[in-house]
Amino acid sequence: MAKAGKYSAPRGTVDLVGDAAHTWEFLTRTASRIFSLYGYEPIYTPIFEQTELFVRGIGEATDVVGKEMYTFEDKSGRSLTLRPENTASVVRASITNSLVGEGRSAKLFYAGPMFRYERPTKGRQRQFYQIGTEALGLDSADIDAESIIMLMHFFEEAGIERSSMRLLINSMGDENCRPAYREKIRQHLLNHSEGLCEECNRRAETNPLRAFDCKNEACIAIMNEAPKLADELCDDCKEAFEKVKYYLDEAGLDYIEEPKLVRGLDYYTRTVFEVQVDAGLGAQNAIGGGGRYDGLAEALGGKDSPGIGFAVGFERIALVLEEQGFEVPRLNRPETFVAIVSADMEDKAFELANDLRKAGHAVLLGEQGRSLKSQLKNADRAEVKRTIFVGPDELEKGGVLVRDMESKAESFVAFADLENYLKAE
Ligand code: AMP
Repeated sequence: MAKAGKYSAPRGTVDLVGDAAHTWEFLTRTASRIFSLYGYEPIYTPIFEQTELFVRGIGEATDVVGKEMYTFEDKSGRSLTLRPENTASVVRASITNSLVGEGRSAKLFYAGPMFRYERPTKGRQRQFYQIGTEALGLDSADIDAESIIMLMHFFEEAGIERSSMRLLINSMGDENCRPAYREKIRQHLLNHSEGLCEECNRRAETNPLRAFDCKNEACIAIMNEAPKLADELCDDCKEAFEKVKYYLDEAGLDYIEEPKLVRGLDYYTRTVFEVQVDAGLGAQNAIGGGGRYDGLAEALGGKDSPGIGFAVGFERIALVLEEQGFEVPRLNRPETFVAIVSADMEDKAFELANDLRKAGHAVLLGEQGRSLKSQLKNADRAEVKRTIFVGPDELEKGGVLVRDMESKAESFVAFADLENYLKAE
């Protein structure tokens, strides 16, 4: 066993190596492939931003801002924060770069690490990875439906069994109907303050709707009796929500209306959604979620401009894929091994491997200075389909020996025919 070393990855962080690294690569690849079908384009924003951006954009009363941010001062005394999520950053970037306005809209997707100082458990880390999308400058209900349809499309293409996923949707109302509802919930909390946990009592004053997220049994029972926002929506919100559901029905997507689904962040309006999976994740069973945030751009100092998006968590998807036994397809998994039969063949083998790679074949080359036997052990370990032996006898005849690793059949193939031979196999 190698020594574990003097340094370990900081608490709540992991190295993505081996299968985990391949899974992340596969998921980002799948995200680009699927989201681009819907007209979404990539965006990359800084890993850190001015602290104020997240305080404004996420809301002071949220757990994320209140307890979980990695905030530091740089050498000039600016307060900076590692991004705890990416929506505020993307909306900020759309304002900075004038991506939206005067008839223009933007559909964007991202993938990368986020940082929250949370208690690490299974599926919950301090540096974790998210993939997400934002549609900015668009407010019709079909965009909400499109976003949800695209999310489910992504999950299915990512290999998650449809039957294991539950899609929950709700409407959180807007600035016309939510304030009154918020006040009703505050009253409800105050009326039941004796039965509520300390945190929910605090929430009554800071962020009453967050009480719906509390995992405390007594609080859950009290919130089950709370007034439902669906009964209090204004006509515009009601109509918009009906339209979203109409489009989801048209698309044949099953969903559950969950009146208690309330996203924790202050800027959400109208449509919210979450996808849950029943798979060994315990309380952390949400693999993704999102919603509309029509108030955010203005809160960040931009023009009043609507937006909707979602984020999915890599760690939890990876756990689900593992549990469901999904084999992650690897990009360019090498199918060909080039073995160096004797030391004088090193240069020729090197040249052949490079020629094949340029022709689009993923190729592993035997290690120089190793015996043929030990090279072939590596070929077996890599589970390649074939091994090409570069040896003096075949070279003299203008070709190589190719061994099919499954049948063990061997045949001489001339260099001129090699390309066609590999293609035809
Ligand atoms: P949120 O930004 O809180 O709405 O979370 C969106 C998704 O990111 C969740 O559904 C999780 O899958 C994932 N997520 C959030 N926080 C963490 C964390 N600390 N560790 C791992 N995944 C997380």
